[in-house]
Amino acid sequence: MASRQLEKTYDPHQDEARWYRFWTEQGYFHASVDHPGKVYSVVIPPPNVTGSLHIGHALNNTLQDILIRWRRMQGRNTLWVPGTDHAGIATQNVVERQIRAQEKRSREDIGREAFIERVWAWKAQSGNTIIEQLKRLGASCDWDRLRFTLDEGLSVAVREVFVRLYEDGLIYRGERLINWCPRCLTALSDIEVEHDTTAGKLYHIAYPVADDPDTRLIVATTRPETMLGDTAVAVHPEDSRYRHLIGRKVHLPLTTREIPIVADPILVDREFGTGVVKITPAHDFNDFEAGLRHNLPRLALFDQHAHLDPAGLQAAGVEDAVRGKVASLPIGKARPIIEHLLKEGGVLTKVEPHSLSLGKCYRCKTVVEPYLSPQWFVKIKPLAEPAIRAVEEGRIRLIPETWINNYLGWMHDIKDWCISRQIWWGHQIPAWYCRRCNADLLLHTKPDGTWIIPAQARPVVAKTAPASCPACGGTEFVRDPDVLDTWFSSALWPFSTLGWPERTPDLTRYYPTSTLVTGFDILFFWVARMIMMGLKFMGDVPFRDVYIHALVRDVEGRKMSKSKGNVIDPLTVMDKYGADALRFTLASMASPGRDIKLAEERIEGYRNFANKIWNAARFVLLNLDGPREAVPAAVRSFPDRWILSRLNQTVRAVGDALEQYRFDQACNHLYQFIWHEYCDWYLELIKPILQGPDSLDARRVRQTLVESLETLVRLLHPMMPYITEEIWQTLPHEGASIVIRSYPTPNADWESKESENAFALLERFVTTARIGRSLLTYSPGKSLTLYGDARDAPDRAILKALHGHLAHLSRGTVELSTTDRWPTDRILRLIVEGLTVGVLVEGQVDLVKALEQITNQRDVGLRETQRLEGKLANQEFVAKAPPEVVAEHQQRLRTIKQDQALLESSETQLRGMMRG
Ligand SMILES: [Zn+2]
Ligand SMILES: [Zn+2]
Repeated sequence: MASRQLEKTYDPHQDEARWYRFWTEQGYFHASVDHPGKVYSVVIPPPNVTGSLHIGHALNNTLQDILIRWRRMQGRNTLWVPGTDHAGIATQNVVERQIRAQEKRSREDIGREAFIERVWAWKAQSGNTIIEQLKRLGASCDWDRLRFTLDEGLSVAVREVFVRLYEDGLIYRGERLINWCPRCLTALSDIEVEHDTTAGKLYHIAYPVADDPDTRLIVATTRPETMLGDTAVAVHPEDSRYRHLIGRKVHLPLTTREIPIVADPILVDREFGTGVVKITPAHDFNDFEAGLRHNLPRLALFDQHAHLDPAGLQAAGVEDAVRGKVASLPIGKARPIIEHLLKEGGVLTKVEPHSLSLGKCYRCKTVVEPYLSPQWFVKIKPLAEPAIRAVEEGRIRLIPETWINNYLGWMHDIKDWCISRQIWWGHQIPAWYCRRCNADLLLHTKPDGTWIIPAQARPVVAKTAPASCPACGGTEFVRDPDVLDTWFSSALWPFSTLGWPERTPDLTRYYPTSTLVTGFDILFFWVARMIMMGLKFMGDVPFRDVYIHALVRDVEGRKMSKSKGNVIDPLTVMDKYGADALRFTLASMASPGRDIKLAEERIEGYRNFANKIWNAARFVLLNLDGPREAVPAAVRSFPDRWILSRLNQTVRAVGDALEQYRFDQACNHLYQFIWHEYCDWYLELIKPILQGPDSLDARRVRQTLVESLETLVRLLHPMMPYITEEIWQTLPHEGASIVIRSYPTPNADWESKESENAFALLERFVTTARIGRSLLTYSPGKSLTLYGDARDAPDRAILKALHGHLAHLSRGTVELSTTDRWPTDRILRLIVEGLTVGVLVEGQVDLVKALEQITNQRDVGLRETQRLEGKLANQEFVAKAPPEVVAEHQQRLRTIKQDQALLESSETQLRGMMRG
């Protein structure tokens, strides 16, 4: 018996906080290795510790929570590992800005150790924001296992991996060109550089041949200042125009240097431009490679701020007069001066407009410079090969599959991964340099005291600081100042969070994890690297399925951004509509491969859906006073048999959809069933039974109400955890919480084809009668005189059996007889699929007004028909739209055509009556 009733209106605010507290206090989200169920484990994509929940997080975590809650209810041993990422540059920037604003000091003023302490203090104060917001959303993570990429355990894992990769020859330090952000002052990996096309210029410069100044080789460049660092020009070995010059030299304008003419078939395309290419190994990636091939010196011209470095210019033999004009200038200011000097020297032969692709820092949008510096790299090919096979062989499934080609293409093309970053906040690289062995190399520090460590220095790589140098026994060391790319630690996330390198019970039980839910934007940054590291260190894939969801955009498909003012803040909408409404909205829109175009109205719409469920539950609870009788479904009344059969179909459809990660379909099945079948039809059908005197039917209906609603809220729970718990707790139930009840499975005893057929006929009758009511302009409350007949005998029998329901739902009296026995000609006959519904045209009906209305409706219908036919005839629409959208259009067209036929026939009949 129900012990309590539900409040009149649903108030998510109070209930959500109360239930979340209850769930965590009861320990429902805590995973135990001893739980006998089959494992279902998930690691959260760790949000940045600086983060605040945005709509993308809300989507990502809603989908994970649906999977986890569903599997938990299925009796699986579920674990959802939560955590945050230390987010190197992002966090450092936040704290740096804060200190600058409050104390007018830079991080250099404070010093490395003190600054890092400040970041930890900041984390202790503000780093939990996003965790609290995830709880608000309902995320059922195991908070006892909360991890942080810089915590003690994960740092052990990071050092272990670094040392092992180094010992395997898969990590090396070398002077390489890297992408450098002159604002963030750090290296960036290739995928941290965003490319933009902008309008630039192409400068053609003439280099005179050293021993034959009348012969000039013309090179072209979009960055004329880099010519100061050229160390060769290249031609194609088989180019007859230049073959005789190979091995000779050109004079490099504006400098005192002569540089060789080399033959390079890789760098030079003879068909392109003049067929001569300048080589600047220190400032261009292709040239760097060419420099290695020809053993050319590398002359770095810029400092770390991308200013022309006086020492670099001197080393490059730049003429004193030129040096005086450009030294210490930023590139943008130096460029026009160089252009002017080249023109003055008569070697600038042409300048033309040219569009070029500019690399920009993904974080601050500053133009990235190729920059020569000693960095740490992961040799990636040997790690990529097994990761390619794991996806090719299906040991990891990417869902949707369309991502497989992107993944494979990227992995086949992969370049060594630059893992060092010149910042302070992060995992400092576990490498030390012996002062004695590297005495001739460790000479300089930067102004902030950071050691400058040349590429030739020999490191000791170890998990902890070495006590003495293995080579010379020396005990004085300089630690490498760089920290690791943030993605290095997150690449280990699926096993480091479970206790690796220890063989913990968690690691044994929960690795490999089951599903990773992620946005496609970090497929390469993160997912691919987890696969490589998992295979290397665990010998097994880190997860079986990768579900890749789309981005949430605004309703017009634009990216949400503060500057555009089109951001939907999940916290605001949860305040307004509740977490359940937000969750259901995002899940219902998560169609594979399509961006979500979100409007706030959608969330409001699903809040109304929550209200609809609430009101249905209130109706059920208000009608439970009275005895119940549990009997097999087959002997219950028609409405009960029908709703249980439909519920059973819904249980099957929702389960199938979740198995296939079709969150959208699962939500759609639930929505259609609850709103239309359960609320609009079933609750209406049973009202007379409940309102009548106590009867066997009434007792069984009460039983069905409990069974169906209890099943329904369990089915809905993963999507809308809060409202379902609230309703479930007020219904008669067993157990302490819906969270740990079983997920509904199909029940063959509930299957009833017979009742579904009968319902189809009933629905047809009632909707046709409603059309008749509206055509004849009868008010909604008026009791109608109706007639009914069916072409086929079985249908006639069904109509007879449902007679009471037909009259109740159509609001009128219904006489069932063959049409020839209907008593008068003034009956509007509406024929739909073998069913004839007659509506008595009473004396007061204004036929002129009715005909006018029919004409109007036919016009509207005609326009709609034309619109839909036009759309379906459009090849492009049919080819591009998802199949279900096309099917929807076709269905709508059929319905309208049927309605049009009814209207046409009604018009004829009413005109006949007017004449008669
Ligand atoms: Zn930057
Ligand atoms: Zn030494």
